[in-house]
Amino acid sequence: MRLEKTDIISMSYCELEKIFAEKGVKSFRAKQIFKWIHEKRVFDFDGMTDIPVQMRMYLKEIFCIKRLFIQKRLESSIDNTVKYLYRLDDGNFVETVLMQYNYGYSVCVSTQVGCKMGCRFCASAIAGFVRNLTPSEILMQIYETEKNKGVKVSGVVLMGIGEPLDNYGNVVKFLDILSDSRGNNLSLRHVSLSTCGIVPRIYDLAELKLGLTLSVSLHCADDKGRSEIMPVNNAYNISELIQACRDYISRTGRRITFEYAVIDGINSSDSHADRLADLIRGINCHVNIIPVNKVRERSYRSARSGVRNFAERLGRRGINATVRRILGSDIEASCGQLRRDAIEKSNYNMDGGADF
Ligand code: SAH
Repeated sequence: MRLEKTDIISMSYCELEKIFAEKGVKSFRAKQIFKWIHEKRVFDFDGMTDIPVQMRMYLKEIFCIKRLFIQKRLESSIDNTVKYLYRLDDGNFVETVLMQYNYGYSVCVSTQVGCKMGCRFCASAIAGFVRNLTPSEILMQIYETEKNKGVKVSGVVLMGIGEPLDNYGNVVKFLDILSDSRGNNLSLRHVSLSTCGIVPRIYDLAELKLGLTLSVSLHCADDKGRSEIMPVNNAYNISELIQACRDYISRTGRRITFEYAVIDGINSSDSHADRLADLIRGINCHVNIIPVNKVRERSYRSARSGVRNFAERLGRRGINATVRRILGSDIEASCGQLRRDAIEKSNYNMDGGADF
């Protein structure tokens, strides 16, 4: 039986050093190779020219480098947003979005193939869950996108397909490699992680004190309404979630963001805004109001006036809120839509459904 090779891009610097030490390889080689991959972006051992040929052959025997392939690429003619559908080594698809802001480029990455969380308004939920992404598959969404566009990304958001805290171990390892000063060296101050509210993992993340921005998808401030659109609320209710958010802020000293997608007739009324204001008053936070993106299978809508009213009402109640600018509105920017279309075309098999 042939042994499966280890994907070297999923290995942290310490792991690489350790495995080299076990095999009697000098530790400076770990430093060189980590730099070739994560700083110089050479994804082929033969291109690592200061590594002796014999050692390159040895590396090829035990390690592999898994690249991502662009299955589809859509470029917005309005704002330069580029959306990629990447094909993974096993034929699965994930979505990545490159956004241009006045301060630079930011990439939105997926963390799972599909999602188990079942949020009613989200296209990722409709296409079901297949598997977690490896640290390498999350990193490579950034590296391949940078290569394709010839740009350097200055911010990363974990807001694509999947629930990052449902793939906790791989996501934490991804963050470690992404920010390692011996490689890619991106400060986690420029990273946002968005969660639907997996409470125990919010406590775990707080303990790591990583310096990233935590975004919490709230979308409704009462349990009954939230459970109807977000099944995760049946497992961890609003008061447990808010408690975890308070803990996160006090341990890390970081302000958090609450995401609120306004959906007409569901969570958009004045009383919804008032309840939200009462819930989060006094918490060191910011509210990001998002007009709900249309998803083909759902009838959810968001009127521009409703979004403005909601934001103004929160503002009058002393809550720090902004309406998020919509990027890539001409290229199906709602997460999960491209992948779902690709699956429909290829009749790809999946299992799905939430765990709660
Ligand atoms: N699972 C994570 C991150 C992925 S989704 C989470 O739930 O936070 C990133 C953000 O987009 C979340 O706030 C999510 O609730 C929101 N979102 C999903 N579908 C949307 C839609 N159709 N319109 C607006 N926001 C949506």
